[in-house]
Amino acid sequence: MKTSIATVTISGELPEKLEAIARAGFEGVEIFENDFLAFDGSPADVGRLARDHGLEITLFQPFRDFEGMPEPHRSRTFDRAERKFDLMQELGTDLVLVCSNVSPAAQGGIDRAAADFRELGERAAKRGLRVGYEALAWGRHINDHRDAWEIVRRADHPNIGLILDSFHTLSRKIDVNSIRSIPREKIFIVQLADAPLIDMDLLYWSRHFRNMPGEGDLPVTAFTEAVAATGYDGYFSLEIFNDQFRGGSSRAIAADGHRSLIYLGDQVRRNLGADYLAGAAMPERADVSGVAFVEFATDLDESTELMALLRALGFRKTAVHRTKSVVLFEQGGIKILVNIDQAGFAGAAYAVHGTFAYAIALLVDDASKAQERAIALDAEPFAQPVQDGELQLPAIRGVGGGVIYLIDEKTPLGRFSEIDFRPEADEGDLTSVGLMRIDHVAQTVSYDEMLTWLLFYTSIFDAHKTPMVDIIDPAGVVRSQVVENNTGTLRITMNGAENRRTLAGHFIAEKFGSGIQHIAFETKDIFETAASLSRCGFKSLHISSNYYDDVEARFGLDPELTERMKARNILYDRDDHGEYFQLYSGTYGEGFFFEVVERRGYRGYGAANAIFRIAALKKQMRPEGLPKDAL
Ligand code: MG
Ligand code: MG
Repeated sequence: MKTSIATVTISGELPEKLEAIARAGFEGVEIFENDFLAFDGSPADVGRLARDHGLEITLFQPFRDFEGMPEPHRSRTFDRAERKFDLMQELGTDLVLVCSNVSPAAQGGIDRAAADFRELGERAAKRGLRVGYEALAWGRHINDHRDAWEIVRRADHPNIGLILDSFHTLSRKIDVNSIRSIPREKIFIVQLADAPLIDMDLLYWSRHFRNMPGEGDLPVTAFTEAVAATGYDGYFSLEIFNDQFRGGSSRAIAADGHRSLIYLGDQVRRNLGADYLAGAAMPERADVSGVAFVEFATDLDESTELMALLRALGFRKTAVHRTKSVVLFEQGGIKILVNIDQAGFAGAAYAVHGTFAYAIALLVDDASKAQERAIALDAEPFAQPVQDGELQLPAIRGVGGGVIYLIDEKTPLGRFSEIDFRPEADEGDLTSVGLMRIDHVAQTVSYDEMLTWLLFYTSIFDAHKTPMVDIIDPAGVVRSQVVENNTGTLRITMNGAENRRTLAGHFIAEKFGSGIQHIAFETKDIFETAASLSRCGFKSLHISSNYYDDVEARFGLDPELTERMKARNILYDRDDHGEYFQLYSGTYGEGFFFEVVERRGYRGYGAANAIFRIAALKKQMRPEGLPKDAL
């Protein structure tokens, strides 16, 4: 797939945009007229700058309100076009986008528009330029690519072609199969954008809420497959108007865009069984069958408290690393590593963030294939030196600069805790409290990174995102979205915080970045687990009695059950599939905590309870934790 992106998609001054676009790996760039006008340099300077970065200028845009105008507007419009042609030649691009007319003066009429394009084609041909026509979803007379195609067909000029834009087609729910009958040489460029499904005015939706393919809810893959069916092998160019992107990091947004196109190309290649759209073929999305371990970075002093908390949660030390200061704790199928080593990446992570769950390991079918796919999708590989005889775990960098290790059972990687560790168990009779596995890992990111990580996870791993939920923190809104697979063996909740007075925002500010904020363990019987936890000295987060009055009334619960929950600070939720029980630890450090859950068929994450959990945690963290008004 030949990749391009419109300058309007990302933030910054034009030179910064071009730098970010080139660095992300794009081959082409669309120059948006406003970016050019705001730049203090000639068109030739812009052209040189793009070429110096190795970028082809795929398109100059937009040229508005052209077709179907009465005189004297019509003559003026053609004069205007000639001036744009001058500019394009200086810039060094041969393609301009004409979007369908929105002017009240436009007269409509397919043949009139076709005649205008034929004349424009003649003028463009004299200069060796091409004109592409795009139907805006809100065009006055033309708002459907099928009508735009009919105009292009009737214009019957080699220098006049069609521009397809997934947003304009999909936002109007136009059948994408209508694209399959368009001759490929008449499609001059294809623009791609996704968007979340929001019922609102098309123009407003388009100008503010577009996002990268795979980040929204539109069937961009089906659209691209229809384009691919024509044999089109030109540029796919991202044209994303999004307020958040325009305020975000130019490099991060450009990188997301590139990842989205590679992923889209991969999906189309797989669905069509055709090779031509693909870049390099890559292994399929990795199937995750569980979290193999979570690793904390800490130091000797702080590790004491962390290990005490783990023991209170019923974990037992089972082994220590052969050459590093890393201790393995286990319970049920759960492994937790406490890394006290001050050398290496964990030590560096600790120095920056303090005690921190800096790494998770995912159990996949084939770790090296999973890593290969991740790297093909622009993920950053991670490795650090190991001693002779120790395993080099395949890994990539994840949220907040953390690490995702990839482990499988078909290679010795699955036995890492025997190969790299030697048994050294806790003395005495510490008993399990019944925790079986990691149910979910919750990561907190700043709000503008959320789409980045959703795309990261869903493109690399076989998982999907669930609809976004707003969690009302007493100090603001936290957006929550989940990445999960169908079997529930991969569940990552992402909380996007907008301000630091929310608990999630505080966590980000204090941790100098995004990261794992809580880990939830699954038990088969939360009441038994809660009783055992209390014997181990575990203190669960105190939940106010008002909560129990409310939950009892809301769900019509048996008062006896409510009393039992209240005695153990257990929270409750229910969905169409079943019931959910949860309890929390207090916060550890700057807002990290553990959760214990029991699912009785329930598929959610207790979002409705988050507000009570947040209020309770904040109460615990005051006075030094948060400003008073944060409540
Ligand atoms: Mg467009
Ligand atoms: Mg949770």
